[in-house]
Amino acid sequence: MEGFKHKRVIVTGAASGIGKATAEQFIQQGAQVGLIDLHADELSQIKESFSAQVYVETVDVTDSQGLLSAITKLADAMGGLDILHVNAGINGTFTPIEALTIDEWDQTINTNLRSTFLSVKAAVPVMKANGGSIVITSSVNGNRVFSNFGASAYSTSKAGQVAFAKMAALELSRYNIRVNVICPGAISTNIDDRTDVEPAVADIEIPVDYPEGARPLKQETGVPEQVANLVLFLSSEAAGNISGTEVYIDGAESLL
Ligand code: NAD
Repeated sequence: MEGFKHKRVIVTGAASGIGKATAEQFIQQGAQVGLIDLHADELSQIKESFSAQVYVETVDVTDSQGLLSAITKLADAMGGLDILHVNAGINGTFTPIEALTIDEWDQTINTNLRSTFLSVKAAVPVMKANGGSIVITSSVNGNRVFSNFGASAYSTSKAGQVAFAKMAALELSRYNIRVNVICPGAISTNIDDRTDVEPAVADIEIPVDYPEGARPLKQETGVPEQVANLVLFLSSEAAGNISGTEVYIDGAESLL
């Protein structure tokens, strides 16, 4: 399949999970793809697995200048930019508000929300000549779900991404840049291994009982490839009239 032949794509958080699956699908469909992540070895492995045009920048998305320059360098290397998937993110520290340190709050907000602004800021100058698609990975948390106790910083960052996407969609429509935001439920990735859940969360939890299991549509957890399918659809010409909207991909679990 070569549905994205001649398209130039950047994916942040591309070394694992949702970002990796999305980058691989774009590569398989003929796009040139620029990968951004903290983890150089994983990025190199993806680059080596594909003969297609893959470009890599190892950068921490909380490093403003580093991120701005990585996006500019990747766009230069590909001769432009048509599609941006803003996806790098962490759960960070889950703990009661009174225990959450300012550094822990900043780490989550800067990694998830500030980097979203920076990624879009860096992309606009290169995308506005030809238009294109921006997809931001938010979450059910902060939008439909508020019962993950201790996740106040994470949920705030994810709610902020939805508001930012809507502001950006209106503002950038003059350049024919569409902006959408996706809200996954539980997806099998490495994110939980990198989460610091403090024992004090038990002190603030309110027990939530779900009727007959957590996922109405299927009992299995979602997989990154399903989320990647959605990102590719939103980035395709078939989605040419879709902008400024959030799409939930959670098997209806967040409606419980
Ligand atoms: P993951 O941990 O498997 O992948 C995230 C990637 O982002 C990693 O490769 C990591 O190195 C990278 N990253 C993290 N911090 C970074 C930084 N400071 N600089 C550069 N790269 C950084 O997790 P995932 O589940 O694929 O998460 C991707 C996105 O999906 C996140 O924004 C997350 O909030 C969102 N999300 C995930 C789920 C889920 O259940 N997995 C649900 C809803 C939303």
